[in-house]
Amino acid sequence: MTIERILEVIGKNNPGADLDLVRLAYDFANEAHRGQKRHSGDDYIQHPLETAYKLAEYNLDMATIIAGILHDVPEETGRTLSEIEKNFGLEIARLVEGITKLGKIKYRGLERYAENLRKMFMAIAEDVRVVFIKFADRIHNLKTLYSLTPVKQQRIARESLEIYAPIANRLGMEEIKGELEDLSFPYVYPEEYKWVLDISKKRYEEQKRFTDRVIKIIQKELLENSSVKIVKLEGRAKRYYSLYQKILRKDMDINKVYDLVALRIIVEDIEDCYRVLGHIHQLWPPVPGRIKDYIAQPKPNGYQSLHTTVFGPDGRITEFQIRTQKMHEEAELGVAAHWLYKDKNIKENLKISQEKLKWIQGLLDEKDNGKTPKHYLNSLKLDFFKNRIFVFTPKGDVIDLPEGATPIDFAYHIHSDIGNKCAGAKVNDKIATLQTPLKSGDVVEIIIDKNRKGPSENWLSIAQTHAARDKIKAALRKSSRLNIFKFFGK
Ligand code: MN
Repeated sequence: MTIERILEVIGKNNPGADLDLVRLAYDFANEAHRGQKRHSGDDYIQHPLETAYKLAEYNLDMATIIAGILHDVPEETGRTLSEIEKNFGLEIARLVEGITKLGKIKYRGLERYAENLRKMFMAIAEDVRVVFIKFADRIHNLKTLYSLTPVKQQRIARESLEIYAPIANRLGMEEIKGELEDLSFPYVYPEEYKWVLDISKKRYEEQKRFTDRVIKIIQKELLENSSVKIVKLEGRAKRYYSLYQKILRKDMDINKVYDLVALRIIVEDIEDCYRVLGHIHQLWPPVPGRIKDYIAQPKPNGYQSLHTTVFGPDGRITEFQIRTQKMHEEAELGVAAHWLYKDKNIKENLKISQEKLKWIQGLLDEKDNGKTPKHYLNSLKLDFFKNRIFVFTPKGDVIDLPEGATPIDFAYHIHSDIGNKCAGAKVNDKIATLQTPLKSGDVVEIIIDKNRKGPSENWLSIAQTHAARDKIKAALRKSSRLNIFKFFGK
């Protein structure tokens, strides 16, 4: 990697960008790391350059890219953070400081895991860009993992798969999540990795030929019969780790995986999205019930696109996603989309991403309630790393819960009092039992009985979230104390 290649990417994405400070940062870091080598034998400067290149590829703002170049200076060289601040200003120095703090982990085993997570959450809550740099740093470390000892390989790959990738996922950063997973996969599950590679090879090749055929037909149709300008039309192969996960869900049968290669059409504006949909349906009949208009009705996490599945050439089931460039950036980059170079208002950006990341604060507060690392980890595993669903209150507020959550979880999520006085629930205007698993998009209303004394014991098995269970236990403890008190009082 060279600084010229980084400058070229920045210049291409943002003609007229002021590149002087990037060059200065390179000179500074290059000088500081002079003579240092990586385990792979490369000059050390290669690592920060690769990190910054990744950030530039994602078109992130200049401060983030520069902090990427400088990220290992205070930790690995004789140059200090205050020298960085003097030369490059407070904003960049703060980002570098954030990265340095993330790197210092004291504990081992379970405690290490908890500490690591907590530090990531804290960094996200302060300035989420620190975590973008950490991801880029980690991706290059994974790419050169072969040069480390097996013990270190395991630790770093596992940490990436179990901590970094799920966090990237929760930040909506699809691309980064996929890269972290695929780079860690061969180290954490070597046998399974070989197996997936082996069984998917032929299928991928065949699917690729089919997809190319479909792409040619659509290109021709749009060119000849419409004015739609295609920004990008691509078949994207499913990544190995996510394919592996899907095969596990499909009884280990790869033949049941239909979206091995997804077809994605990116166009200039929303009107064109609908035009393209019309043309696809003229070419091939849609599969009933599979057209989804996430443009008119975005998913609660903000995702927008048109989805359709058709009986394609030879009657083969074929899925399409149609979206604008802006929707595409949001879908791939998630929270990072607010930090693209073109949006220069730092304060505003910080506010938007912190607003979007309010739930992180909740996770930090939980830890502060004096829980042990083990309890903290268990509640995170239950509430954070599960897939999330989004349900609505009758007023239209979005509530974010883990998959499998029930009206009890919903009630306690709103307020302990609502939970304790919960007598029943309506889901989509119909009376539902308290153990009904909620689905994304459900409108949930809790029926309250003001005279209710508190939760019943069996709610502990109905509640799926740690948060709800803790509140139920607390209420049960309180009422049993009262009962004992009454008993002795008599
Ligand atoms: Mn590094």
